[in-house]
Amino acid sequence: MKILVTGAAGFIGFHVCKQLLERGEEVTGIDNMNDYYDVSLKEARLSMLLPYAGFRFVRMDIADRSAMEELFRTGEFEKVVNLAAQAGVRYSLINPHAYIESNIVGFTNILEGCRHNGVKHLVYASSSSVYGANETMPFSVHDNVDHPLSLYAASKKANELMAHTYSHLYNLPTTGLRFFTVYGPWGRPDMALFLFTDAIVNNKPIKVFNFGKHRRDFTFVDDITEGIIRTLDHTAEPNPEWSGLKPDPGTSRAPWRVYNIGNSSPVDLMDYIKAIEDQLGRTAEKEYLPLQPGDVPDTYADVDQLMQDVNYKPETTVQEGIKRFVAWYKEYYKVQL
Ligand code: NAD
Repeated sequence: MKILVTGAAGFIGFHVCKQLLERGEEVTGIDNMNDYYDVSLKEARLSMLLPYAGFRFVRMDIADRSAMEELFRTGEFEKVVNLAAQAGVRYSLINPHAYIESNIVGFTNILEGCRHNGVKHLVYASSSSVYGANETMPFSVHDNVDHPLSLYAASKKANELMAHTYSHLYNLPTTGLRFFTVYGPWGRPDMALFLFTDAIVNNKPIKVFNFGKHRRDFTFVDDITEGIIRTLDHTAEPNPEWSGLKPDPGTSRAPWRVYNIGNSSPVDLMDYIKAIEDQLGRTAEKEYLPLQPGDVPDTYADVDQLMQDVNYKPETTVQEGIKRFVAWYKEYYKVQL
């Protein structure tokens, strides 16, 4: 099967490509290698993928319409996993246009490419951030998500709506996965686990937002990767009764799905920090700060639907996951404590 993975040099994209290649798929990975964070980390991830015979990398921007049209025109991709996006809640307050370019314009190019070139299933990254300050726990895909707290969250919600229109109009099977705080080896330098580890190793204080009162459904990257690939395999069938001209009455019959993908076991931020301290054998100096604009207080995924449909089973405890991240970090950055 020929699969297109966008954001292939990114944290989750790298893990997804690796697992697909391990099982013998032919993967084309694309990424614009932007400098939102350390480009050498993206290059290092890619250097792990390039030795696989089934892997081809093309450096390109999903927002580049003509390049995307050309890439898709071969009609070779059976399935597409769209992970390329401008990620990060806080950065969306500083550079809103990056989110429109990659997450809206880029996503439109992905939808168009799939529509015109016989793609059988598009799986794309959404985010737990769409739940905003939802207080009903756990978060269910049936909850109202009309109140995003950042442009990042709004762009992810917009992706779900855009995907629905393409599923409805063109009978294109699409599945959105709302990822809940993903962490693990090769993780993003702008995210808490990396920032905390880095600061503790370098004897710097860590910034503890919301005075440490967050609860987060931290999800280990291998569990996410497994869930993405199970979802990709489980293609929503095009609807045989589909008529692009007939609007669905109230509920949708389009081959469109949205799932939560998380650990379904939220952890207090202070316990997360304690697990990092335990692994590093050091105590962090903590600077307590208020909730940041755009941040959501708590997250907790209801994953029953994904369990039912694709047998998704998150297995990694935060203690085990952090242990594996710290082992990777020490080896990659040659740290001896
Ligand atoms: P990442 O930043 O490591 O990966 C994204 C990759 O996409 C990067 O390598 C980047 O260079 C590339 N990219 C960005 N814009 C591009 C463009 N216009 N064209 C081509 N490539 C582009 O982030 P990640 O953590 O791997 O996230 C992957 C996806 O999952 C993103 O859509 C993100 O919004 C979503 N997500 C991640 C998390 C998480 O906790 N990591 C949570 C919710 C949602």
